[in-house]
Amino acid sequence: MELTVWTYEGPPHVGAMRIATSMRDLHYVLHAPQGDTYADLLFTMIERRDSRPPVTYTTFQARDLGGDTAGLFIRTLEEANERFKPQAMLVGESCTAELIQDQPGALAEGMTLNVPLVPLELPAYSRKENWGAAETFYKLARTMLAGQMPAPGTTASRPARPEGQRPKVNLLGPTSLGFRCRDDVVEVTRLLASAGVDVNVVAPLGAAPEDLARLPEADANISLYPEVSGTLVKWLERTFGQPAVHTVPIGVGATRDFLAELGAVLDIDVSAALAGDPSRLPWYSRSVDSTYLTGKRVFIFGDATHVAAAARIATEELAFEVVGIGTYSREQARMVRAAAKPLGLEPLITDDYLEVERHVTELQPELVLGTQMERHMAKRLGVGCAVISAPVHVQDFPARYSPQMGWEGANVIFDSWVHPLVMGLEEHLLTMFREDFEFHDGAVASHLGSGQRPEVASESPPSSALDEPPSDMPADIALGWAQDAERELKKIPFFVRGKARRNTERFAREHGVATITVETLYDAKAHFGR
Ligand code: SF4
Repeated sequence: MELTVWTYEGPPHVGAMRIATSMRDLHYVLHAPQGDTYADLLFTMIERRDSRPPVTYTTFQARDLGGDTAGLFIRTLEEANERFKPQAMLVGESCTAELIQDQPGALAEGMTLNVPLVPLELPAYSRKENWGAAETFYKLARTMLAGQMPAPGTTASRPARPEGQRPKVNLLGPTSLGFRCRDDVVEVTRLLASAGVDVNVVAPLGAAPEDLARLPEADANISLYPEVSGTLVKWLERTFGQPAVHTVPIGVGATRDFLAELGAVLDIDVSAALAGDPSRLPWYSRSVDSTYLTGKRVFIFGDATHVAAAARIATEELAFEVVGIGTYSREQARMVRAAAKPLGLEPLITDDYLEVERHVTELQPELVLGTQMERHMAKRLGVGCAVISAPVHVQDFPARYSPQMGWEGANVIFDSWVHPLVMGLEEHLLTMFREDFEFHDGAVASHLGSGQRPEVASESPPSSALDEPPSDMPADIALGWAQDAERELKKIPFFVRGKARRNTERFAREHGVATITVETLYDAKAHFGR
């Protein structure tokens, strides 16, 4: 563990908090010092939840350390059970509490409470938040399924689905503080319905512990977010013989593959769902306008699921050039390595945001797809950016419907990736008027702030120098505009029309042209665009 200003993932008990906060009727008792309650703010401030997470802290203080902190934990657990009456309780400790070795899990196991208890052993100094969430979700499901387990070493037998019965699946993995999970569940549920598939349980998001006891009733599991659901999905396959759909439907190609895999796993015909593809992304990719984006240099960084999906969309659906790719998730690095291989790239596997910033600075991409950390660095560097993965900022919990998965998710991705790029017309004008004080090479698009690209800022002459006409320009030529040239000029957007007029007149003077025609206008454009 190291001290840092920013971190991609918190300690593993924050992962456990994400599970507790995602669910109903579950309570987490956390042995933690006063001060570690800061984690509540992640949920109330960033996710704008209307209530505190269902977590009770022991909040021991320095003066308690010489006394009975284990007794404090036992009392807190009993009181929380009495007060909240949950269906199940998680029991664990924060990083600091781990050091005093009270072992709350073992203490809880020695108590008799009228509620299932899930002792969590989450090593704070070697594991991180997503691992903590995956482990907690798995342990909780195991506890709630304890009465249905087959004999050790065997797999429960599964009766065939009765003829005519619609198949049903579990959606596993969406959590609180995840990236667009709330809307992804809605979108994937809609997608499944289009294929004639019902949802049995969605978890952790919105589920109660007792819902987990119904997991084996589904015909298959959908692993929507392997960072959180991977461990449980594998165990359900081994123990209850439940097959899983592993394709995550982010992007048009992946959504089509998801439906195809769903069809194969459930032995159903998904052709109607595939034919219903209503995404506008493929339409855009076929349009002439899209050729402007071809070959845009993109850097991608985040969790493994969203990075792998983004790499595929960027290359196959938008024809970008991926110049760098990486993840902070060491546990899921294999997924990103697999995505990097066909691109001929060595992935960056690190949780050091300064190292990521060094890479972005070196690679000079035109678009950064990352977490909220990459958004910060991209803004500083004057590069367009879209957030594609947790960790996120309050603005990444939009009030509007904004999924990443399924057909509508592809539309949302298109809008959020393409709009940060300088639009075609604007870039064209930046080139054409590059010697103008506002439109020189170093200018960045207005929506990227007032900054200049740092590497060119020092080369740009001061604006006052650009305002002055060059000393060799004959200023005394009387200029006139032909009517058709004036009409052509009016086609240029109003906010740059004045500058287009001045630059064209400057070109005309330099070339001794007295009457500006349409031809002069285009000659000027070609001259300044060279
Ligand atoms: S010790 Fe652990 S819980 Fe406490 S502030 Fe540091 S990372 Fe957070």
